[in-house]
Amino acid sequence: MSILPQLPASMRIVSDAEYQELRKTMEVHVPAQEKVHYALTDVLAVLGIFLPPPKPWSDTCTALYLVHTEEYIDTGQLGTWIQCELDACHPADTHEGEDIEWSDNQPGAVRAWPVEP
Ligand SMILES: [Zn+2]
Repeated sequence: MSILPQLPASMRIVSDAEYQELRKTMEVHVPAQEKVHYALTDVLAVLGIFLPPPKPWSDTCTALYLVHTEEYIDTGQLGTWIQCELDACHPADTHEGEDIEWSDNQPGAVRAWPVEP
């Protein structure tokens, strides 16, 4: 089970089961299967719908941020999940990764939590 962030009411994150169904449907039509995930990410983000969070790596802070605001439409990051690149257990409640800074209280943010290595 994943911890999900707060998002504006018009947005939502699909369940793992929905994601698997979407993948199956897309794989019928998209020959390059390795692109299915990225195609789904981009297409659904336009509608304010996002894919489930990834399992974070355990070698940095595990805080995640779902890029969901309009300012990122042109950067190609809309709909992607970003993991904090700072050291695990860094003191501040602000995180950074891929040139984006966020705080634990911001919509789209998932707090750091311990991960099995
Ligand atoms: Zn962090």
